[in-house]
Amino acid sequence: MTTILIRGARILGGAPRDILLRDGLVAEIGDLADARADQTVDAAGLVALPGLVDLHTHLREPGREDAETVETGTQAAARGGYTAVHAMANTSPVADTAGVVEQVWRLGQESGHCDVQPVGAVTSGLEGRQLAELGAMADSAARVRVFSDDGKCVSDAVLMRRALEYVKAFDGVVAQHAQEPRLTEGAQLNEGEVSARLGLTGWPAVAEEAIIARDCLLAAHVGSRLHVCHVSTAGSVEIIRWAKSKGWDVTAEVTPHHLLLTDSRAETSPLGPYNPIYKVNPPLRTAEDVRALREALADGTIDCVATDHAPHPVEDKETEWAAAAMGMIGLETALPVVQEAMVETGLLDWAGVADRMSARPARIGRLAGHGRPIEPGAPANVTLYDPSVRRPVDPTAMASKSRNTPYEGMTLPGRVVATFLRGRPTVLEGKLV
Ligand SMILES: [Zn+2]
Repeated sequence: MTTILIRGARILGGAPRDILLRDGLVAEIGDLADARADQTVDAAGLVALPGLVDLHTHLREPGREDAETVETGTQAAARGGYTAVHAMANTSPVADTAGVVEQVWRLGQESGHCDVQPVGAVTSGLEGRQLAELGAMADSAARVRVFSDDGKCVSDAVLMRRALEYVKAFDGVVAQHAQEPRLTEGAQLNEGEVSARLGLTGWPAVAEEAIIARDCLLAAHVGSRLHVCHVSTAGSVEIIRWAKSKGWDVTAEVTPHHLLLTDSRAETSPLGPYNPIYKVNPPLRTAEDVRALREALADGTIDCVATDHAPHPVEDKETEWAAAAMGMIGLETALPVVQEAMVETGLLDWAGVADRMSARPARIGRLAGHGRPIEPGAPANVTLYDPSVRRPVDPTAMASKSRNTPYEGMTLPGRVVATFLRGRPTVLEGKLV
């Protein structure tokens, strides 16, 4: 193994320190002017964070390799400062058996850009009729701990209860895409003034909030862990705050796009009205929701940031609004968006960012090798970030196979300079190694 000396990095934004990485671990921290290393990385002015962990990534393989592959998706993750991503189960075939999750897990090992932890489907084929092979996926080489029908909601209360009961046996968690299906039939964007003016079918906040409330009650009733995916409304925040005040084991995530963008983008944006680049599920909400989500992430009611990176090929996005696919890519812009929404506004410092983007998601996903503080003996998963620059977002410069970023034309702060996975650089000087 090579030895790498990182010179003058500001760990969590603190005073400059040298960090020596050896044999996949953080070996020493301090003034290491005399240390010998195979490679030296100048980190003057850079913030060092523990490698980021995403609980919610769509890698699209197997089945939609035209949108993304494990190889390109993990390249995008490394460029975004991630050392581990959870790969969602809504692939083709669906990741609902030990065989498919092991296939995704192996593809991740071969790619080597970051760790890939497969998420298992809750129900067979995401059909919401019978439970998938949860135990077999948990016992497989992929050691699945997070289960989700994401893209669809486990709307049947009996099935949701059974899933919550089942995963307790192996300390698993059900990650729910909260969307009451009958209330959102044909829904196109947030139900409100903008949807009314544009004449598009609304996606009401209550369709999310009703499922979250039900699931919190179910999780408490059976004494299990619940994780709420991509919380998007102020009302959802209130319900989760209430559930946590009861001591229930409920965690939640928010996406970068729900922290920065509102539904007004569908009407007035530099890219023009009715631009489906802003079509996403759950939809972009109002400025009041954005304010509540930021406060909830700051005070810990929402535990973590998860990208919901959802690549789509051009032909599925550049069409009329109603026909366009839902979702946006996010791995390579997550940290800059969080800096813009949370750090520049004084709501989080870098220690808070490390907690919400590395430590807590690793804990929720039970990834023992990730999310640890940068200290001697910890796995050398480290991201070096330059918060001082501002740059226009350039979709053509991204590693993702898809280009559906809602930030095109916007200027965002920050740049990931280097990422280290167990002491090995996956990104140096902003480029893939
Ligand atoms: Zn979802």
